[in-house]
Amino acid sequence: MTRPLRIHRQHSLLGHNTLAIPAIAEAWAEISGEDDLQAAIRLAREHSWPILPLGGGSNLVLGDRVPGLVLSVEMHGIGVEERPDGKVRLRCAAGENWHDMVTYAVDCGYYGAENLALIPGSVGAAPIQNIGAYGVELEEILVSLTAVNLRSGEPRNFRREDCRFSYRDSIFKHELRDQYCITEVCLELSTQPKARADYPVLVQYLRAHDLRETPENIYAAVCEIRRQRLPLPAEVPNAGSFFKNPLVSPARAEAILQQHPELPHWPQQDGRIKLAAAALIDLLGWKGRMREGVGVHENHALVLINPGRQSASTLLAFAAEIQLSVRQAFGLELEIEPRCYPD
Ligand code: FAD
Ligand code: NAP
Repeated sequence: MTRPLRIHRQHSLLGHNTLAIPAIAEAWAEISGEDDLQAAIRLAREHSWPILPLGGGSNLVLGDRVPGLVLSVEMHGIGVEERPDGKVRLRCAAGENWHDMVTYAVDCGYYGAENLALIPGSVGAAPIQNIGAYGVELEEILVSLTAVNLRSGEPRNFRREDCRFSYRDSIFKHELRDQYCITEVCLELSTQPKARADYPVLVQYLRAHDLRETPENIYAAVCEIRRQRLPLPAEVPNAGSFFKNPLVSPARAEAILQQHPELPHWPQQDGRIKLAAAALIDLLGWKGRMREGVGVHENHALVLINPGRQSASTLLAFAAEIQLSVRQAFGLELEIEPRCYPD
C-alpha cells in the first residue's frame, strides 16, 4: 500500500538553501518515488499551485514567500551497466548527492566525472545548468535523462541533444523552465583511466605535488583545491559563483583588453571570448566588501556571501550594484547564475 503524501504548510526553507535565505514555502513535501511525485502533481493541480523541484538548494536565490509546492526530491539509487567496450552506464536517481555519486564512480574505477567532484547539490539538478568545473561539463558524460511533466504527470526521455546544453545552460532554464521534474540521469563513464588535466590550476597542483595525471589524482586534486578556495556553505552561506563569465565578441574583448591587458580571457569554440567575471569584479574593488550582512567573499570575487542570513531583496540589491559598476566600467552585463525564485 502506498503511504499518503505528507504536506507541510508554511515550511521554512532556511536550512534548505545554501545562501541561508529565511524563505517560507506555501507547501512542502518530500518525494521519495514515482507515486509521491504523481500524488504531488495531482495535489498541485487541485490547488493551482506552481511546483518547484528542490535538490540541495545550492543554486537558488529564494524570495521571502515561495508560492505553491516545493518538492524535496529524495529519490535514491544507482544502477550500473558495464559494457563490453569498456564503457559503463550509471543510472542515477535524481535525489542522489552529486559528489557522493562521483566518489562512488571513482572508487569503482568508472572514470569521466572526477573533474566535477565536490560540486554541491543533487544529481537531478546537475543537467539544469549543465554543471561544469576544471575543464569538464556534464554534457560530456550525460547520455539521457528521464523527467516527469509537472502538469500532465507524463514521463519523458530526453537524449543529450534534446537538452540543448551550453555553458552553464540548458533547455530547462528556457523553453522548459519549471515544466519538468528530473527523476533519473544516465551517465556514460569509462573503465579506461583517461585523465582530463588541461585546466591550468589542476596542472599546477599535480606538478607541485609530483602527482601523475590519473583520474584518482585529479579527483583528489579537485577536492583539495576546492576545499582551499571555496567557502563551505555551512560556515559561510553562499551559492558558489553568483555571476556567469561573460561571453563577448572578439571586437568587444579587444576593446576591453586594450584598457586592461591583464584581464584573463579565453577564446571559445563558437568564436566568442570568455572573460573572467571574477577579475572584472575584483578590478573594481568589490572583493571582501560587506554591507547589511551580505558581501563578496574575501578570497573569491565571484562568490557572494550571506552571513547575515538576509533576504533575497538585500542580496539582489547588492548584486545589482556590482552589475551596475561592471556595466559602467566595461559596458558588460553580468548575468546572475543561480535561479531566482519566484522571478
Ligand atoms: P537546487 O539549488 O536545489 O536547484 C537549482 C535549480 O534546479 C532550481 O531551478 C531547481 O528547481 C532545479 N532543480 C533541482 N532539482 C531538480 C530536479 N530533480 N528536476 C528539475 N529541476 C530541478 N555549479 C557548477 O556548475 N560548477 C561548480 O563548480 C559549482 N560549484 C559550486 C560551489 C559551491 C560552494 C556552491 C554553493 C555551488 C556551486 N555550484 C556549481 C552551483 C550548484 O552546486 C549546482 O548548480 C548544482 O547542480 C545545484 O544542485 P542543487 O541540487 O543544489 O540544485
Ligand atoms: P579559477 O580556476 O580561479 O578560474 C576562474 C575562472 O577562470 C573560472 O570561472 C574559469 O571558467 C575561468 N578559467 C580558468 N582557466 C580557464 C581555461 N583554461 N579555459 C577557460 N576558462 C578558464 O576558478 P575557481 O573560481 O576556483 O573555479 C574553478 C572551477 O570550478 C571553474 O571551472 C569554475 O567554473 C568551477 N566553479 C564553479 C562554481 C559555480 O557556482 N558555478 C563555483 C565554484 C567553482 P569556467 O567557470 O568556465 O571554468
